[in-house]
Amino acid sequence: MPGFEPTTRARNLERLAAECVDLLVIGGGITGAGVARAAALRGVTVAVVEARDFASGTSSRSSKLIHGGLRYLQQGEIALVREAATERRAVRRIAPHLATKVLMLVPVYGRTSAGLYKLRLGLTLFDKLAAVGPEDRHRTLSREEALAVEPHLAPEHLQGAGVYPEYVTDDARLVLDTLKAAHHAGAIAVNYTRVTALGTPGGTRIVELWDEQSRAALTARARVVVNAAGPWVDLIRALDRPGEPPVLHLTKGIHLVFRAEDLPVHHCVVMRARDGRPVFAVPRGSQVYVGTTDTSYEGPLEEPAVTMADAAYLLEALDRSFAGLALGAGDVVGTWAGLRPLIHEEGRRPSEISRKDEITVGASGLVTIAGGKLTTYQRMAERVLDAALPLLRCAPAPAAADQQPLAGGDLGGAPDLAAYAASAAVRSGMKGVAPDVLARLIGIYGSDALEVVCSADGPGALAPLAPGVALSAAEVRHAARREMACTLADVLERRSPLALFSTEDARAVAPAVAGILAREIGWSAARLAAEIADFDRQAAARLAWREPTA
Ligand code: FAD
Repeated sequence: MPGFEPTTRARNLERLAAECVDLLVIGGGITGAGVARAAALRGVTVAVVEARDFASGTSSRSSKLIHGGLRYLQQGEIALVREAATERRAVRRIAPHLATKVLMLVPVYGRTSAGLYKLRLGLTLFDKLAAVGPEDRHRTLSREEALAVEPHLAPEHLQGAGVYPEYVTDDARLVLDTLKAAHHAGAIAVNYTRVTALGTPGGTRIVELWDEQSRAALTARARVVVNAAGPWVDLIRALDRPGEPPVLHLTKGIHLVFRAEDLPVHHCVVMRARDGRPVFAVPRGSQVYVGTTDTSYEGPLEEPAVTMADAAYLLEALDRSFAGLALGAGDVVGTWAGLRPLIHEEGRRPSEISRKDEITVGASGLVTIAGGKLTTYQRMAERVLDAALPLLRCAPAPAAADQQPLAGGDLGGAPDLAAYAASAAVRSGMKGVAPDVLARLIGIYGSDALEVVCSADGPGALAPLAPGVALSAAEVRHAARREMACTLADVLERRSPLALFSTEDARAVAPAVAGILAREIGWSAARLAAEIADFDRQAAARLAWREPTA
């Protein structure tokens, strides 16, 4: 499925100014992207506007796990277990390149084997409730087996471990591939277009927009407006009806990234933090990321910062869980922090607040969705449409969005990415591409890897921009030509997550990446210099918490 065209953004802005759409969705995170795709597949005219870059809010700062819902079992939420398990299967079906299996390992400690027995019962129940296929069923390991597969686990009082699969995604790319699929189904998607005012409650809604790229105002019209602005949901509700009381309780979650040689784990190891919360160490290629925290947050919504106190909480959990690794702030090579837009529940601590999504329709007809998960985004989109479509007084054709591939998800009937890479069609389309490069590109872009190869303008364009850096010139061009990248950070933080996982590598290749973007997008020398300086400032801030304060 070809991505956006280089002219798509400008054309979509023209359409926004000229047409009255059925639905205008505010927010280009996973929630807004899902709603736009589901609506477009049903033949509803829909636009999605994003104030900054697609996925620049919470949807590029999650733990990047497509959860099967095991955690809901502990809370007795059986319906949620079934929903998460069904939705996990749906993501694997429509975007196999964005769901990589990882084995979770839960070590059990205690003076008796009671804990291990309890875990085995829970995992057996989960396998049944979630209708887990034979390939995904859990196993339990004895103490010796657990230490054999994860030799760095703290051995004292270790009784054994449970092992079961989950799936790791690239959250920002899940958003992008959902939006590209929405675009192909007819949706109007634009980034860097901020909603500044909402007018005319009740009738056709007038939506005032500001295009951050051309620095120009425009006016859109929509029959119904959907507020999918994540942590900004209350600000949009206040634009709609000044004085609306806030409904959100924001909590911050951070992740720390280490080199795999410094934190050598082979599974996604589930650790217990000092307050008993589970935190994960997730292996991802040459790095391992660790998260997350859950603390009430009241600071600025753009770019929440990691603090030393956040980091200390995770470092302490690592210290207790792994013997002899002694990891410290200086070992951290990347970080990110995100905000959970949870619905406020009086008297509840952050980790006790429900992660369920909640949809409300305001007196003006504004449909607001808050809460929820990446994993269940398609089901959330259907629920939003259930609330929004009656306001349109139309009954669009049903569409099985959970059966239709996202951009990059059409493997032409191949059962998995490896079989797809080996298929005759791929081999003939990618003649001359080294097998390891091909496997890497298919792992990121799925069937759209062919598009990236087409963006290679010469020999070496598919080679890493620097040794060990998983980004090539062809991918940067592809980001500008087919993925609506407008800034240097769009490429280094979201089209590729390099800046999150390896901040210094991203700083090192930033001038080269900016040079390619300048040629593709047509930046002036001043814009080029400003992009590099802006990115460098943000990248430095990402690791600033490690510096001792005077
Ligand atoms: P966002 O992604 O924040 O999108 C909202 C968008 O609205 C933003 O991009 C913003 O710029 C835009 N916007 C704001 N104001 C305006 C305006 N005026 N005009 C236009 N646009 C505007 N879920 C999982 O399933 N698995 C996980 O492993 C997982 N881990 C998590 C870990 C952490 C630390 C956190 C914080 C969340 C995690 N989640 C996870 C939950 C998941 O990430 C979120 O539920 C989801 O990303 C929220 O997406 P969203 O689209 O609602 O919000």
